[in-house]
Amino acid sequence: MNIIVVGAGFGGIASALRARALGHKVTLIEKNQSLGGRAQVFQRDGYRHDAGPTVITAPFLFDELFELFGKKREDYVTFMPLKTWYRFVYDDLSHFDYSGEQEHIDQCISKINTDDVENYQSLLSESKSIYEIGFQQLADKPFHQLSQMLKLLPDMLRLKSYRSVWQLVCSHIESEKLQQAFSIQPLLVGGNPFDTTCIYNLIHFLERKHGVFFAMGGTGALVSALQALMDEEGISIITGDSVEAIQLEDKRISQVTTQSGRIIPCDHLISNMDPTFLYKNLLKGKSNPVARIRSSIAKQSMGLFVLFFGTSQRYESVEHHTILFGQRFKGLLDDIFDNKVLSDDFALYLHRPTATDPSFAPKGHDSFYALIPVPNLDGGQNWEIEGPKLQDKVIDRLTQTILPELAQTIRSPFFMTPEDFKDDYLSTSGAGFSISPHFYQSAWFRFHNHGEGIENLSLAGAGTHPGAGLPGVLSSAKVVESLLKKKYSFHREC
Ligand SMILES: Cc1cc2nc3c(=O)[nH]c(=O)nc-3n(C[C@H](O)[C@H](O)[C@H](O)COP(=O)(O)OP(=O)(O)OC[C@H]3O[C@@H](n4cnc5c(N)ncnc54)[C@H](O)[C@@H]3O)c2cc1C
Repeated sequence: MNIIVVGAGFGGIASALRARALGHKVTLIEKNQSLGGRAQVFQRDGYRHDAGPTVITAPFLFDELFELFGKKREDYVTFMPLKTWYRFVYDDLSHFDYSGEQEHIDQCISKINTDDVENYQSLLSESKSIYEIGFQQLADKPFHQLSQMLKLLPDMLRLKSYRSVWQLVCSHIESEKLQQAFSIQPLLVGGNPFDTTCIYNLIHFLERKHGVFFAMGGTGALVSALQALMDEEGISIITGDSVEAIQLEDKRISQVTTQSGRIIPCDHLISNMDPTFLYKNLLKGKSNPVARIRSSIAKQSMGLFVLFFGTSQRYESVEHHTILFGQRFKGLLDDIFDNKVLSDDFALYLHRPTATDPSFAPKGHDSFYALIPVPNLDGGQNWEIEGPKLQDKVIDRLTQTILPELAQTIRSPFFMTPEDFKDDYLSTSGAGFSISPHFYQSAWFRFHNHGEGIENLSLAGAGTHPGAGLPGVLSSAKVVESLLKKKYSFHREC
């Protein structure tokens, strides 16, 4: 079978490898010059920056891709376990360090609120129950039939999945500072902790069970490792060309046409594109009503403003991953997600890869990115005006808080706004993480991995089941693999 995969994000790459391991002939088509999707790499004046994902969790999902071909991931890229996973810095500049060592976690919690040491255990145990159902039983299983959802209903009710992550965390933890720290996970996959289903709290236990890692050389090195594997296994890769049209014959995709005029026939198509974009633009009027309704009412995740910069000194006291909270928490999130207002205050995630891998900057320098959740393009902000203003505000705040004298030491700053997410990745509304992960956009309610009303279409990636984040999109590729196996089990080529 000739299988085309459109989009080389992690979901697309993993689907291409899984389809190839089933014996199909696979062609991967990517609009950008480099693979990786949101995991692009920027080089500026001696500083390297990963543009997207930086935290590697569930490393076994990457290992599996190499094992499909009898190979070992360690021979291609090293995953370094991090000692401190995240440092949470509050507005009063106190901080909470979170790691994978229980004794250390207890010490750090008790510095803030001794009662929460025990409360944390009950939170962890509830996260474990959610993980056992939400990740182990559901994440890599198809979810396109309503009967699958109905079968799960008793578990969903038992886990009270109608609660938000915030409600779940607050039912265990007393300290407001710790409530904020432990409800941060939805923001890592594009959701507001106040309306993301508590099923996403499984990420908390997923991290505790499998650890938090950094790919040495950066996420870009991980993309290169997967590219090498695809080359070795005979996957054809086309970059710098986007699919502009999909042709159908009798509800079956027969070929695609690219921007450069290539016409490529196929027996099956796997889309790693933003599903809203796919159904609204490339399959307009061709899919079934479920996809049409879902794509017209889909609620997109928030936008991201990402400021990349180097510094002429090393900030040794800054951890690899820092979350700097603002003065407001709920109010700020309401502004970003619901009011779609760009407020004066903001919270940010600061990435300092040079804490683990000095190769990201010239000797004695640091490389950073600061990621600020902002309204997506539905907010109507003019980013040509707001971008430079926000850059100044971020530099000012970091100078006054965790990067003293940054205004003097900063080198080669540049930024990405939601406009870039729209242009670079064809992301609807310039959203950072495709559709948001609230209850009515999860499981059966999310875009299905099985194409709607088109027989030979599958979908993988952040907008599909189970959702955004690297473990989510790698799991979506496993779902696609199982659908391919079921559909074409009789057909095998090499
Ligand atoms: C700044 C940032 C930080 C993040 N940090 C983390 C993290 O630390 N850990 C984590 O687990 N997750 C993180 N995430 C989330 C994670 O990166 C994403 O959920 C995941 O990478 C998305 O993968 P995907 O398979 O959906 O593909 P995407 O990365 O969305 O890639 C899709 C690709 O399809 C291509 N494409 C689209 N349409 C076409 C077309 N018509 N023709 C050809 N090509 C097309 C696009 O150009 C793009 O390259 C982060 C995301 C961002 C933005």
